[in-house]
Amino acid sequence: MHVETPPLLTNKILAHYDANARVLPWRSPPGAPLTDPYRVWMSEVMLQQTTVAAVKAYFERFTTRWPDVRALAAADDADVMAEWAGLGYYARARNLLACARMVANEHGGLFPDSEEGLRRLPGIGPYTAAAIAAIAFGRRAVVVDGNVERVITRLYAIETPLPAAKPEIGVLMDALTPDVRAGDFAQAMMDLGATVCTPRNPACILCPVAEACKGRTEAERYPVKRAKPVKPERAGVAWWIERDGAVLLVRRPDKGLLGGMRALPGCDWRGTGVAPASETVVRSLGQVTHVFTHFRLTLDVARRTSGPDIEAMTEAMWWPIDRLHEAGLPTVFAKAAKLAMSRRDA
Ligand code: SF4
Repeated sequence: MHVETPPLLTNKILAHYDANARVLPWRSPPGAPLTDPYRVWMSEVMLQQTTVAAVKAYFERFTTRWPDVRALAAADDADVMAEWAGLGYYARARNLLACARMVANEHGGLFPDSEEGLRRLPGIGPYTAAAIAAIAFGRRAVVVDGNVERVITRLYAIETPLPAAKPEIGVLMDALTPDVRAGDFAQAMMDLGATVCTPRNPACILCPVAEACKGRTEAERYPVKRAKPVKPERAGVAWWIERDGAVLLVRRPDKGLLGGMRALPGCDWRGTGVAPASETVVRSLGQVTHVFTHFRLTLDVARRTSGPDIEAMTEAMWWPIDRLHEAGLPTVFAKAAKLAMSRRDA
């Protein structure tokens, strides 16, 4: 694999953009004079949580009806909200108006030209501020959206899951971002993620940085997402069988979970095993749950009488209830016993 330095990679990405940039209504062609901040801002707000395809028509309508920030600031709230209808996330429309009015009334109709200044406006977070600063004002700003995250995590095979990887991604994007054409570079990375380094089946063969890409052979593994620990559910029954101030305990089989420990008798936790004849169940006492490393267990706790099925269980023993704390019951059975004792008069 070639070792390529950021300037080389940056130049390749910019050259690819120069030849392949998407034509979008809010965009200037590569290398052209900077785009009107009003149009950059409008597009970036609309693109938050919304696809490019959905935004295009809305962008055209808004900028035709309100061609600059002063026109939008003077608009009727109801008209703006109605025009926004269908785009969703309506807080964005309210912020759009609040921002337009702040720019018109407090900034003389001119958007601030720095990330810090932009971030003070309603509805403009770090990403949007960086994008406007770079694309509309030519500032060197590090712009990281979802597309950029995907490209960077694949390019450098970042194993840290998102969102913990964000600082690392920011540092690497910073190293790639050029001093000039930072706006074009941001858009180049976004385009690369949207059209080549796609979430599924990336077109690595068309990618300008394929030779340097460390994650290419298993691209879809990146960005690594934090595994959601979905634990399987299991269920079982624990029986509370009482006689002369004692409760029946068994010893669990040596092999398996809680092997060899004392326990309340019951069926196994896959729902199979010894089931009591229904007439022996006196009363259901409720449920307890317990989370083991690999599954979550719900135990139905039921009072019942003894019977031949119980007598046959491993090392059944009558244990004095007033000394049950000495039995060394594992937590799940201690919970079940506690529930049963609290319902002894039920
Ligand atoms: Fe993405 Fe493939 Fe390019 Fe790597 S080579 S950045 S995985 S498109």
